[in-house]
Amino acid sequence: MFETLLLNFLFLLFPVVIFLIFFENRPNSYSHKVLVLLSAVAMSLCIAKPIKLEIGFIFDLRYIPFIIVALYGGYRNVLPLYLILNIYRFYVGGDGTIQSFLFSTTVMILVPYFSQKFVKLNSKHRIIWATATSFLTIGYYLFTLSFVHEALNRQFWILTINALTTYVGVTIIIMILIEKIIANIKNRDRMVQSERLNVVSELAASVSHEIRNPLTVTSGFLQLLNKSQTLTLDEKEYVELSLQELKRAEKIVSDYLSFAKPQSENMVYSNMSAELEYTKNIIMPYASIHKVEVEFSFNNSLNKHYDRNQIQQCFINLYKNGIEAMKEKGGGTLFIDISERGQNIIINIQDTGIGMTKEEISRLGKPYYSTKEEGTGLGMLMIYSTIYKVKGTIEVESEKDKGTTFLITIPT
Ligand code: ADP
Ligand code: MG
Repeated sequence: MFETLLLNFLFLLFPVVIFLIFFENRPNSYSHKVLVLLSAVAMSLCIAKPIKLEIGFIFDLRYIPFIIVALYGGYRNVLPLYLILNIYRFYVGGDGTIQSFLFSTTVMILVPYFSQKFVKLNSKHRIIWATATSFLTIGYYLFTLSFVHEALNRQFWILTINALTTYVGVTIIIMILIEKIIANIKNRDRMVQSERLNVVSELAASVSHEIRNPLTVTSGFLQLLNKSQTLTLDEKEYVELSLQELKRAEKIVSDYLSFAKPQSENMVYSNMSAELEYTKNIIMPYASIHKVEVEFSFNNSLNKHYDRNQIQQCFINLYKNGIEAMKEKGGGTLFIDISERGQNIIINIQDTGIGMTKEEISRLGKPYYSTKEEGTGLGMLMIYSTIYKVKGTIEVESEKDKGTTFLITIPT
């Protein structure tokens, strides 16, 4: 029994290890297809080499990959597994084919239903939920089997207990491994991001100041020159253009400077919703030019210590991006919502703009990433750096042509 149990465990480890070695670093556009394929292989291997109990019964762990894929992947991803499982099972035939079919259909219908809630849970709760799902479904399966077997003898109960503990135990182990991998990937992304920010802010601090002064002087003299009566029309145009370009350069420098600002100077005790409302009023004229409406709601006012300049800048950047995303669609509504959940302030900024693809979302926050002609690609970088500094999190949900939602959590 032990050999076959270990063998089954090895089959289940197989997708985890392969993913870890070969696919962890790939962008996630096709990696989940690979995972479904690997799980299908693991499941088939489990069916092919079942665990033989000494008392003569056999059972296997095929439902572990099935349940895990159902929970993480939802209906779309578990469907191939469902088909493979049943085709294989009908091909093998024999006792219990119909029960297996009915059971897998039930699991297929019920479990993925909770998938969307499941993926939003935190890591610990996911492990608990997956284990509970595994316990309940397999427990239910064995329970229904007890009606089929007339002889409800001791051996049957030994089988049941063995099978159930094995299922639950292996599910816990596999879930811990999966969650650990997810946590590692997230940590690494965070580190890369903060490294990026460090480099940028160091550069920003040293270069921005040096550049700003000559820029101001030059643009001052150009403005004087522009007033001169002896300039021809052409020359005037050149000066105008130079001034425009200088303005652009100044904008980039001041965007940069916002990273370099020392934090402690601006620390204030203030009200977060007042801050949001204040920044909303600043941005209102910009919104109305672009035919964008702003809806603002908050349930509670929160007082907290934070760097006011940076937080304000951060909200303004977010609003501006939202408005600019809707400008291209000729208008829309920007929803701003602030609420309190447990120890956190939750800020929800939603637009009905052009949206982003998954790939574009993954590039958010990289220096100079911008899809706009006049864009600097520093706004999102600044937002990420500010939110990281206050140990908050940003989640982005977006659909192309539908809109974007930024969900920001700031701990208090
Ligand atoms: P910029 O606004 O100067 O282009 P940002 O760093 O603020 O730079 O934004 C980077 C890019 O992220 C934008 O060019 C845009 O493509 C994308 N983006 C940011 N926010 C949104 C949004 N709300 N909707 C759609 N795209 C967005
Ligand atoms: Mg921007």
